[in-house]
Amino acid sequence: MLAELTHRCPLQCPYCSNPIALSRRSEELGTEEWVDVFGQAAALGVLQVHLSGGEPTARSDLEDLVAAARAAGLYNNLITAGVLLTRERLAALQAAGVDHVQLSVQDSDPVNADRIGNCRDGHARKLEVAGWVRELGLPLTVNAVVHRQNLDHIEEIVALAHRLGAHRLEIANVQYYGWALENLSALMPTREQVERAGAVAERARERYRGRMSIDYVVPDYFARRPKRCMDGWGSRFFAVTPRGRVLPCHAAETITGMAFSSVRERPLAWIWHNDAAFNRFRGLDWMPEPCRGCEHRERDLGGCRCQAFALTGDAGATDPVCERSPLHHLVTGRAVPPPGADGPAFRYRRFVAAPGGAVPGTTGAGSGQH
Ligand code: SF4
Ligand code: SF4
Repeated sequence: MLAELTHRCPLQCPYCSNPIALSRRSEELGTEEWVDVFGQAAALGVLQVHLSGGEPTARSDLEDLVAAARAAGLYNNLITAGVLLTRERLAALQAAGVDHVQLSVQDSDPVNADRIGNCRDGHARKLEVAGWVRELGLPLTVNAVVHRQNLDHIEEIVALAHRLGAHRLEIANVQYYGWALENLSALMPTREQVERAGAVAERARERYRGRMSIDYVVPDYFARRPKRCMDGWGSRFFAVTPRGRVLPCHAAETITGMAFSSVRERPLAWIWHNDAAFNRFRGLDWMPEPCRGCEHRERDLGGCRCQAFALTGDAGATDPVCERSPLHHLVTGRAVPPPGADGPAFRYRRFVAAPGGAVPGTTGAGSGQH
């Protein structure tokens, strides 16, 4: 389970997969509501909760939520950008029951990292936080989202994560939903960058084997086959948004026209088993051709529904990343970075007022890519 505790965040990453229309603090589930959700999740068979956002440490009740997750028997992973933490708060969170910390870095280069996250001195603070995590004896995963503007630094990012004492490093190429889709031209790497980065990641994985595990998530747009997204829609994962909507994938709200139930309206178990949105793409029966008759359908499950919607307007289409999709040209046409070193300036993630000044509803993706 991914618990998106808030959309508030001191960083403004241009690839953040939070919705374009972020939820306000006043809309967020309260402490008791989250405590109840954790209890329901455990009863449903959930084993792990990822405490994320936005920035989960922006919530002053995080210690209570961690304690509630622990009391419900859920292994909890704090996914944080780090910059709001003090050593005292981290120790308090550990005392409350945090099992694992996942810390994001925007780059190995401090100046570029702070530019990407639009957060002054953010990188330096993250390095300090990593030190405290290790001092306190908590397991640490470092994660880095990579794109045109930092993909050439993978070697240095790996070295940084090792220096910080990470047990695991996750390097993930940007997925183009939400804010990343808005910034596609600034983030899209060149094919040469992608090929170089893949080779560097492969060598690093060998070099650090047994000392630090390295996951490298390849960029969809340069693949021939789609990813096995979420290990299947409604199969083993759900996300709860800050205002309580339950999603089969953290980006599922980008599929406009699809309604998702809220824990404020229905029990979690009812949503998991009965909600039309959860059942829409469960299993293999929903598949169109060419997936229906394809020998790879059980392996990749037809790819990503959010990506299919983003590119074709039909969430039930074959993911156009697949070279067998009749709409594959929509991907190859976009996997072309603009000329110049960096492309256009970022459109940074921020709260966007809806037309007329009303507080917007959520119409975008879920958890930050961090
Ligand atoms: S046609 Fe469908 S099932 Fe076959 S490889 Fe492509 S996405 Fe996968
Ligand atoms: S990606 Fe993570 S750190 Fe960056 S703005 Fe989004 S929630 Fe914050």
